[in-house]
Amino acid sequence: MTRSVVWHPFTQHALEPPMKRIVETAGAYLIDEDGNHVLDAISSWWVITHAHRHPTIMKAITAAAERYDQLIFAEYTHAPAEELAEGLIAVAPPGLAHVFYSDSGSTAVEVALKMALGFFHNKGERRNRIAVMEHAYHGDTIGTMSAGERGVFNAAYEPLLFAVDRLPFPAVGRELETLDAFECICRSGEVAALLVEPLILGAGGMKMYPPSLLAGLKEIAERHGTLLIADEVMTGWGRTGTLFACEQAAITPDILCTSKGLTGGALPLAATLCTAEIFEAHLSSDRRKTFFHSSSYTANPIACAAALANLAVWRDEPVKARIDTLAEAHRGPLARFAADTRFRNVRQKGTIAALDLNVGVGGYGYLANVGPKLRAFFRERGLLIRPLGNVIYLMPPYCVTAEELGRAYDAIGEAASQFGAPACRL
Ligand SMILES: *Cc1c(COP(=O)(O)O)cnc(C)c1O
Repeated sequence: MTRSVVWHPFTQHALEPPMKRIVETAGAYLIDEDGNHVLDAISSWWVITHAHRHPTIMKAITAAAERYDQLIFAEYTHAPAEELAEGLIAVAPPGLAHVFYSDSGSTAVEVALKMALGFFHNKGERRNRIAVMEHAYHGDTIGTMSAGERGVFNAAYEPLLFAVDRLPFPAVGRELETLDAFECICRSGEVAALLVEPLILGAGGMKMYPPSLLAGLKEIAERHGTLLIADEVMTGWGRTGTLFACEQAAITPDILCTSKGLTGGALPLAATLCTAEIFEAHLSSDRRKTFFHSSSYTANPIACAAALANLAVWRDEPVKARIDTLAEAHRGPLARFAADTRFRNVRQKGTIAALDLNVGVGGYGYLANVGPKLRAFFRERGLLIRPLGNVIYLMPPYCVTAEELGRAYDAIGEAASQFGAPACRL
């Protein structure tokens, strides 16, 4: 094995074993250099929705590559971006009217924050505070880290992160505390926006809360003239059971961020959707009110073509039925663990299932040794499962079968026998 010069993300190279090379992806699987089929039970970090290499999307990419590479997205436009923007507006919660492109979830959120701050700046209103939820994750750039939960991930950068107002997570029975805290923060009149992951906080530990809470936050925001930014980077494209999670709360956010599943996971692309009001606040004969943002690869035509093909898949194939089937397939095995004292908080939202493994004193937290041990345990069984600390979750592509899912659950059961601790009984 030759030493690699590649520096991998979220990887402690001093502790990790050499990595296998993946030579092909297909359906729910990654195929490695030795021909092993690894079940991708986390959709390659939550991006692959339908399946790896969905034929409609791959064909669209090939066709687009016959005509386009990257082209500047100021002064000129192109059909894939125009058609995709129309298509996104058509399927997004009603009332979103404009689409700004970028290339990752982090940039989609940065754009959203800048839109919100620019909105008030251009109107001459002094509002520059951002409210977020405890345990939030919005990306790894300085701005999105500022909005996210502080901890070991960003300790080195902490001095440069900007201050935000944090709402307590709406744990069961404590929803009112969250709403009251938001109401209280809004009274200052300085909150430009609440940035929130709708219904489920992903990287923060697959923490779930009900649609009614999201609707409550929207109601408070509206009453105080605070914008609501929905970070649907993970939740979008069917993950929570509906195309966008906001639908379940019957709300339209002022700004919506989408990325991961936008191209079905095939290519990097992101979009930040906003209301006409926010767009129009940047519309002026005064050039200082321009929205000053761009990424070099904004609206890459090939990526836009992939996203258009993803819209076609949603239109032409029974995607909703597949999502319902997957949600149903989680229910049986999850129910088995609900009464298992080795686990806590057995939970599900649409296609995402999560459970917290009891690991005993010292086993908790992202850096606890149980994380890498669990990853290795699953890897040895041909499963790609990456627990967040002691939180084990499954978020497979929608093509996964109940049998394949069963294999993942069986391994989770075995892992609990090996690494779990019995529940502490007081
Ligand atoms: C993954 C994620 C992001 C960041 O997306 P990247 O494409 O990794 O930059 C932002 N918000 C949420 C909710 C995410 O899950």
